[in-house]
Amino acid sequence: MGIPEFDETHKILFASAEVVPFAKTGGLADVAGSLPKALATYGNDVRIVMPRYSRIEAKRTIADFPVQVGSRKATAIVREGDIEARMDGTIRKVPVYFIDNYHYFDRDHIYGYWDEAERFAFFSRAVLEMIKVLGFRPDVIHCNDWQTGPIPLLLKEQYQQDPFYRGIATVFTIHNLRYQGNFPKESLNLLGLGDEYFQPGKLEFYGSMSFMKAGLVWSDVLNTVSRTYANEIQHPEYGERFEGILQQRSHDLYGICNGINIHEYNPATDPRITHNFTVDELEGKRRNKLELQREMGLPQLDVPLLGLVSRLVDQKGLDLIEGIAEELMQRQLQLVILGTGDGHYEDMFRDLRNKYPDKIGVEIGFNVTLAQRIYAGCDMFLMPSAFEPCGLGQLISLRYGTIPIVRATGGLQDTVIDYDPNTGSGNGFSFTNYEPHALLEAIERALYLFENQRAWHSLIQKAMKEDHSWNRSAAEYMGLYKNALAHHLAVLTA
Ligand code: ADP
Repeated sequence: MGIPEFDETHKILFASAEVVPFAKTGGLADVAGSLPKALATYGNDVRIVMPRYSRIEAKRTIADFPVQVGSRKATAIVREGDIEARMDGTIRKVPVYFIDNYHYFDRDHIYGYWDEAERFAFFSRAVLEMIKVLGFRPDVIHCNDWQTGPIPLLLKEQYQQDPFYRGIATVFTIHNLRYQGNFPKESLNLLGLGDEYFQPGKLEFYGSMSFMKAGLVWSDVLNTVSRTYANEIQHPEYGERFEGILQQRSHDLYGICNGINIHEYNPATDPRITHNFTVDELEGKRRNKLELQREMGLPQLDVPLLGLVSRLVDQKGLDLIEGIAEELMQRQLQLVILGTGDGHYEDMFRDLRNKYPDKIGVEIGFNVTLAQRIYAGCDMFLMPSAFEPCGLGQLISLRYGTIPIVRATGGLQDTVIDYDPNTGSGNGFSFTNYEPHALLEAIERALYLFENQRAWHSLIQKAMKEDHSWNRSAAEYMGLYKNALAHHLAVLTA
């Protein structure tokens, strides 16, 4: 597909705590590393800003300036790098600004510290100070998840006197409502806010102050990463106690499905997999399976190989797998697991491997190369999530001809259509009830179809031909930026 021409492009600053290839714990990083590229190829002047964690190599310093965090005056150093956006022969560079501060970010991990509120209060204010120092005045600041929630608030409450900032609109994207950035009331001070902000209409949230809430209340428009999740979070079951605010803001709340970077996730060229393959030449996929079985210590049998690549947390439906693990192990199949997270699930998979070493291969850890080999080498991919804002695993596995088995929720519901044996429609297998045997039943339907090699082969081909690139979603984001600017103008002139 060619690059569409847009009469209205924008200057966008994309703020995220994680960006591929610099720092990643989950899907947010993939989105932050790929959506801006797609926006750049559409002609937008898009730039990314993120913290510089210790593992990111030093880049050229372009500015430094003081940032007030409560009573502390910290220094932000801005370093500049870039990522390359390629699309249909066009190459553009997307600048990446790294906010560096030895005290806050020179640490081994991205998250998990006692002073999280202070770290991201610093980052949020540094982003706003940075644009003036650099003289880059974006039309829209696109904020992502709780770490950047204070940006819309600070911009509206503390920066409007300065004409440089007036007129800048904000978009706040919810990648996962469960991670909220809730801190003690005293943290208000870190943002230079008084006690008057500690009320339910403002930042107070069940006795805490919430960075997520700052983004939800003060941004011009909101979106989340699938249509279904945008609806689900307006109800108590999925709303994580924010359903009331989200209902109130439902006119400003959109759902835009994530894409994947189809150039990086391309089975024909992916350097991380042992054998490249295409939709017309699937021999490489078969060989990847043999290689994966060897790598994971499994016998190289011609049985269905099921994969799972995931953070090992409750959200991902691992208790459903736990509930049917013994039954699964009695079937003619193999399972490979890659993940890290809750000790309970790590132990559960380790125990299972010790008991059934010929049936299940387990790697506890974060391993981007092995992840690709699982996407490429498996026959089926498991995502029985309790909730899933969008989910990328199912999109990557479809692209590599690995058939997803998912629970119909959030983005999984929007992207995986249950296979209908009568008509041949659908691209995977899905179930609705959050119940172990509902998952088992979906797996069994997949195993049954797998026996019919011709039907399975055409399902693989159909999956691989689907378009889950950023093309359409990036265009939708451009519409969202337009809405944000219109909303902002309406509020300013009201
Ligand atoms: P979430 O953002 O909730 O973690 P997504 O499905 O949106 O879930 O994105 C997960 C991303 O992280 C995918 O790119 C997936 O391949 C990757 N990932 C998850 N766990 C691991 C792991 N242990 N090793 C390598 N990659 C992982």
